[in-house]
Amino acid sequence: MYWEKDKETMSRNDLKALQLVRIRESIEKAAASHFYGRLFSELGINAGTITSLDDIKKIPFTTKDDLREHWPYGFCAVPKEELVRMHSSSGTTGRATVIFHTQKDINEWTNLVARSMYMTGVRRGDVFQNMMTYGLFTGGLGFHYGGERIGVLVIPAGAGNSKRQIQLMRDFETTVIHIIPSYALHLIAVFEELGLSPRNDTKLTIAFLGAEPHSEKTSQKIEELYGISAFNSYGLSEMNGPGVAFECPWKKGMHIWEDAFYIEVIDPDTMEPVPEGGEGELVLTTLTREGMPLLRYRTKDLTRIISEPCGCGRSHRLIERIKGRTDDMLILKGVNIFPIQVEKKLMEIPGVGTHFVIILEREGFNDLMVVRVEVEREFFSGDLKALEKLRRTIIEELKSDILITPKVELVEPNSLPRTEGKAIRVIDNRKDRL
Ligand code: ADP
Ligand code: ZN
Repeated sequence: MYWEKDKETMSRNDLKALQLVRIRESIEKAAASHFYGRLFSELGINAGTITSLDDIKKIPFTTKDDLREHWPYGFCAVPKEELVRMHSSSGTTGRATVIFHTQKDINEWTNLVARSMYMTGVRRGDVFQNMMTYGLFTGGLGFHYGGERIGVLVIPAGAGNSKRQIQLMRDFETTVIHIIPSYALHLIAVFEELGLSPRNDTKLTIAFLGAEPHSEKTSQKIEELYGISAFNSYGLSEMNGPGVAFECPWKKGMHIWEDAFYIEVIDPDTMEPVPEGGEGELVLTTLTREGMPLLRYRTKDLTRIISEPCGCGRSHRLIERIKGRTDDMLILKGVNIFPIQVEKKLMEIPGVGTHFVIILEREGFNDLMVVRVEVEREFFSGDLKALEKLRRTIIEELKSDILITPKVELVEPNSLPRTEGKAIRVIDNRKDRL
């Protein structure tokens, strides 16, 4: 049941003591980098500054902009000859940031991914199809190595080429997949086109869903349509990639591996810690990385810590499903909206298909939100009255949650553009916005 029982079930006190030692070590390592070296000498910070976990507040936050400004090698803490791998972020919100690893870093990361996969029930004998982009993106190689570490048969399928994905699944009797949730929904249509169903015509049992925010409803829809158990996988390239936090079979949240990451949750406006259990921005410190240690890195991802211990016996705390990035927040007519709220509502409405996009327009002095929604095939060929009724239902449901009245346009299944990577949920056409 456990990949490393002693580490996964370590008492909270031991875990905290370990974190303190590791934070101090990370400061020592980080001091060798250009960025932290200068910062620490300016502020007089060294390992001795930290005598309790709370002292971490004495270290300033590190941001994505810092990484961009000191691109490419400004955060490297070891000589270049010790580095063995580079990865980068997807560049969703601007210039992609780069991360460098030593061999030891790669080993530690691989172990965290293996620990996560094992936790969900993956074992030798499984066939694991990794449907994420290989290359600079971390979801490919990160899971690939994790799978091999457990000893499963890994199919490095990569992203896209949907028909071939299905063929691979069937030919080699894939049991476990790693897939972007919006792509998992899209793939259903391709199965249908081939006259197949993922539930009846594959041997799938487990899916790892990651790389983009998705609601519980979406996860459930995927579970139903594929006949599998889905697990939420959270990570970011700055913290290696996948293997930061992962759902366990109890599905009460994602265990964040606290022997590898120190976690804080802050209010993104005041930058002060939120009260225990409150929602805020996740701030992470690497505890074992040597090639590129990062201290108090602001992820911009919003979540909360779940205080109750998990029934599975692991002592590493749970975080809630990521709501989105602070950058994803839309402000319309003074109301804050996250795309995941729209997704959640849509997925609850029967007749709604698998894809949608939010388009923001400026109409005179007002902002207008258009939600373009794909509907299920049976619905689309049905009568106009039913379609109009569905459209009205969607407007009402969305209005009740996000408090503004969107314009809703229903479109044919499979008609909205797809990406191979993270879904694009918002198109902002408000040219003159401030
Ligand atoms: P980029 O930051 O350019 O998108 P990454 O590939 O490093 O590059 O993506 C990491 C980000 O993806 C996270 O910070 C988070 O916003 C999002 N993400 C990853 N996994 C999940 C998940 N399971 N749920 C929600 N968001 C996720
Ligand atoms: Zn658990």
